[in-house]
Formats: sequence, structure tokens, C-alpha cells
Amino acid sequence: MNTEVLNGRLEPHGDGELISKVLETVVEQVRPCTSRGSVATYIPELGKQDKGLLGIAMASVQGDVWVAGDWDSPFTMQSISKVVSLGLALTEMGEERVFSRVGVDPTADPFNSIMRLEMVAPHRPQNPLINAGAIVTLSLLPYPDSHSRFAAVRDLARRLTGAMDLDMDEAVYVSERDTSDRNRALAYFLRSVGALEGDIEDILDSYFRQCSLRVNAKDLAVMGVTLASGGVNPFSGERVLSSKVCRIMRALMATCGLYDGSGEFAVRVGVPAKSGVGGGIVASVPMRYGIGTFGPALDPKGNSLGGIMMLERISKELSLRVL
Ligand code: GLN
Repeated sequence: MNTEVLNGRLEPHGDGELISKVLETVVEQVRPCTSRGSVATYIPELGKQDKGLLGIAMASVQGDVWVAGDWDSPFTMQSISKVVSLGLALTEMGEERVFSRVGVDPTADPFNSIMRLEMVAPHRPQNPLINAGAIVTLSLLPYPDSHSRFAAVRDLARRLTGAMDLDMDEAVYVSERDTSDRNRALAYFLRSVGALEGDIEDILDSYFRQCSLRVNAKDLAVMGVTLASGGVNPFSGERVLSSKVCRIMRALMATCGLYDGSGEFAVRVGVPAKSGVGGGIVASVPMRYGIGTFGPALDPKGNSLGGIMMLERISKELSLRVL
């Protein structure tokens, strides 16, 4: 284990039992509220999800795991995969190159918005965690085609989560690929203003594939703790990313991870996190924990309603706030 992990805060004796109890209780308390949210339907296959599902997993830098509720129900990463492709781009291309093409500022617009791209010159996506920014980030990767680009993202996702068999949900991939007019519009617009180069359909294909990577809440907890530890997966012992890259990723998660809901989430929860319309949220408490939540009932901004409520309660109960 690296020194960052060894220097991480050790939990006082007895915290393990407290955590199990807190997780069980929050799932029980929050589950009835999932009826107030809606599953995403603009990707038709996601519309089939059961909105009453709710699960959570938490992992520590010391290698403990706690789970509750529907933690082992599978779902697709969707926008959470943007964190993975960003980590890959920062590692392979360097900070300067990536951020010369994509900004690092939060936006008050929805994740798939086209509006500000046209209004502000240069027409550079505001950050890598909105759709336009993630598509540009993917296009920068040094791979010749969708197949090899996606394979590289999947390999990093596998090492971050420790789920070495992690792969696509074919039905969700096809469903998004065949209906995604909005992402096509974004990508072709970006190309028309010189912000995106290359074979648009090929780049989009790798974007749809990475969004359809199938995980469960425990996989996200391990990913979150790997980012929290500064890049070492505490379960495999592998250094997956540099601590500098993890710091940048956590900073962007803290400011942009829940799109136009990021400010409210920072106030309510106070922990770097990233959501996806599949219903997942990955949260990363520096030097301490990773948390994965799953609840496909979304709020109007496309963030998991139950996931946010559970994280808010857990952050308070276990004093996790860092922001
Ligand atoms: N695949 C989804 C899209 O591009 C991801 C969006 C999300 O999870 N917020 O629309």
C-alpha cells in the first residue's frame, strides 16, 4: 500500500458496526421516497428499470466493505463513466492538453445542454463531466477507433472498481445508440465550430459503449475509495491512477459532478461525487471512504433522488463532509 493510504485516518474501534447500522437504516428510511422520482425514459431501455430499487455500499481505505439494500442490483454507469474517461485522458495526454480543449468550470445548465456552447466563444465545453465535454475528452484519446478507445476505458473502469469482468449492457448500449439525437446534435455542432475533430459516429459509439458499462453499488464504492486513496485500489493493491490525477478528478466531481445540482449537493452532502442517469452515484471521501449508491428514481435534474437523500444522511451521521 502507498504512503497516502497508510497515512489515511484510521477509524476508531467500533465504527464498522455503526456503519452497517447507518446503511441499513438509511435504505429503510429513504426507500418510500423513491416513489417521488422517475426513471430516465429518453434512453428507452432505462425506462424499464424498477424505480423502487435502492441500494448502497461503502468501502474504506483499509479495505473494509459494508452493503445494504439492493447493493448487488446491476445498472449502467452512464455519466459516471465520464470520470473514468477523464482519468484516462489526464493520464495519457496530460492536464495541459486536456484542459486546452475542455474547461474546468461548473455550469448551471442541464447535462445535455447545447445552449452555452453556441453563446460563448471559444466554443469549448465548460467541463469534462457534461456530455459535450465528455465527448471531446474521448476524442482526444490516442486510439484509432471506437473498439480500442472503449477497450481502454473499460480496462481502467475494471481496475478502478476491481470488477475484472465488468462489461457493457448490450441492450442499453443499442437503445442509446439508436435514439441519441441530442448527443449527435451536440457532437456535430462541436465539429462545426472546430471544437471536435475526427470521425463523429465512431467517437459517439465509444461514448455510448462506456455509458452502458454495467456495475453495482459495491463496484462504485471500490471506485470511490480508489479515488479517495489517491489512486491505489485498496483491495487489489494496484496503483491505478496517480494521486495528482485523482485530485483533479475529485475537484471536478465536487464542482461539476451533479451538473446543475452540484452546488446544492455540495451544501447538503459536502463530498465529491458523480451521478449517472442509470441511477448510480459514486462518492469519494478523501483518505477515508468510497460510497456507491443505486436508486433509478431520478430528480428533475437527472440525479438519483434516493441516492442524494441517503448520502445526505450518511454524511451527517458519519461526519463525512469535506466541502
Ligand atoms: N448516456 C447518457 C447521455 O448521454 C448519460 C447522461 C447522464 O448520465 N447524465 O445522455
